[in-house]
Amino acid sequence: MKKQNCWEFYKCGRELGGFNATHLGTCPASFEIKTNKFNGAENGGRNCWAIAGTFCKEKTSGIFARESGSCLKCEFYKKVMFEEGASLYSSKFILKTCSV
Ligand code: SF4
Repeated sequence: MKKQNCWEFYKCGRELGGFNATHLGTCPASFEIKTNKFNGAENGGRNCWAIAGTFCKEKTSGIFARESGSCLKCEFYKKVMFEEGASLYSSKFILKTCSV
C-alpha cells in the first residue's frame, strides 16, 4: 500500500502542481529529491519536519524550531513515527543528507 505524504494527509494543496501551489507557493517538502524514498516518501513528503522552509502552519522557521515545537505534536509526524517504527530514517540522518 502506498504510504501517505504530508500533503495528502493535510490536503494542503502546496505540493508540486497542487491546487494552492500557484498562489501560496510550492512547499519544499514536495520537491526535496535528496530525501526521496526515505520513510517511504515521495521526495520529502514523509520527512517534512527535517526539511528547511516547509510551509506547515507558516509559523515555524528553522529546522530545530519545527522539530522541538509544532512537529512533535503533529498528527502526521506521529503517524510516520508509528508506521516506520524501527526502520525510521532519523531527523539527524535526514538533516545530514539534506546538507550535502
Ligand atoms: S510540509 Fe508542506 S507539503 Fe507538507 S503538509 Fe505542510 S505545507 Fe503541505
